[in-house]
Amino acid sequence: MNDEVFEIIKQEEKRQSEGLELIPSENYVSANVLQAMGSVLTNKYSEGYPGKRYYGGNENVDQIETLAIERAKQLFNADHANVQPHSGANANEAVYFAWCKPGDTILAMSLPAGGHLTHGSPVTRSAKIYNFIGYGVTASGDIDYDELEKLALDNEPSLILVGYSAFMKIPDFGRVKSIADKVSQQSGHEVLLMADMAHVAGLIAGKVHPNPLDHGFQVMTSTTHKTLRGPRGGLIISKGKVGNPLKKCEHKLENIPTLIDRAVFPGTQGGPLEHIIAAKAVAFQEDLQPEFRDYAARIIKNAQTLANELRDLGFELQGGGTDNHLLLVNVKSSFGFDGKIYEKALDLVGLTLNANALPTDKGGAFRPSGVRLGTPAITTRGLGEAEMKQIANWMKRVADICAESQEESALDNYNEELATIRDEVRELALAFPVPGI
Ligand SMILES: *Cc1c(COP(=O)(O)O)cnc(C)c1O
Repeated sequence: MNDEVFEIIKQEEKRQSEGLELIPSENYVSANVLQAMGSVLTNKYSEGYPGKRYYGGNENVDQIETLAIERAKQLFNADHANVQPHSGANANEAVYFAWCKPGDTILAMSLPAGGHLTHGSPVTRSAKIYNFIGYGVTASGDIDYDELEKLALDNEPSLILVGYSAFMKIPDFGRVKSIADKVSQQSGHEVLLMADMAHVAGLIAGKVHPNPLDHGFQVMTSTTHKTLRGPRGGLIISKGKVGNPLKKCEHKLENIPTLIDRAVFPGTQGGPLEHIIAAKAVAFQEDLQPEFRDYAARIIKNAQTLANELRDLGFELQGGGTDNHLLLVNVKSSFGFDGKIYEKALDLVGLTLNANALPTDKGGAFRPSGVRLGTPAITTRGLGEAEMKQIANWMKRVADICAESQEESALDNYNEELATIRDEVRELALAFPVPGI
């Protein structure tokens, strides 16, 4: 095949092989997951759900989607799973749509505190439909539960959401459950407790992080491509009565599984991506293996080793460190430059991460004070403690360059030194092959 697309894919394989992926929301899938994604299942229309389709010829697809559903339920101890959301954002929108009426209040972690765009950022469609209110974090980086409780009792939300993309603690799900119970009592309406575990779902599956469904939460959304190490996609699991998704049902918490099915299709999506659902099923089977528990534990160990090394080298960490796979480094307070120049300079040496605002940053996140990084991808490649030390050292050498240059344009003056570090990163990266390449 000589389409230039395949040449570019080869270049991407090279980029992934020669660099180290520190973006905490990325990972490397197995060869089996890749194979399922690239299958003829993409040719098939299968609107509806297993056994209840609007098209013929779904006997194989039904088996595949059922496997994905059963495996997801087993992974998270759930009554129900919907494996059709095309992305984490779609999964979240579907849950809001399943439970909330236009104008309803949703209480979620604010974006600057570490929440996600889909949790009420004014640029999203959801924010135009629902009334989002944001809670924050304390100086030590934990959820401000007192603020959460006050906001909940003052505003009586119909949905309380715990979820984040830049938060390094373990949430106290039980405490949020007791707050929701108080709101229910005071307001007389049921409150849906939703956890968006897009980042830490793999840690939950690996039993190294508490499962919100075991602590009174009824719904959990996730991506499947982050720590779960599956194809790019979304997932919704829940507790409750599983009904017929083709039939209307009463707006009650116990019916949430059916309300969710109806909200995904036909509520917010069309035909499911069955090649992706097959890849989800393959990934979930991998996630159920004992080796995956070991992987999840190593993610956290690596993150904590990296955090300790960075701290020793003068990096200030939001929340003082991490209890999960994520680190948020305040490079502004540590060394006086912003996250953007650091992201750029690290890119030049083959260390990929993203600039990120800190809860204390004022104004837009255009020149954020920090960078966010994490260990899921490099742990998949097999890097361990010794390599974390090496990465911290490279990060310090690049930080020294940024501190001297201050301007992105002035990084050119350090080409030689950056190239030396680039060679060192490439050599280490190539010793830990990317799965599936
Ligand atoms: C990544 C993420 C999402 C969005 O997932 P997409 O697949 O990119 O739409 C939603 N919520 C949280 C907390 C995330 O970290």
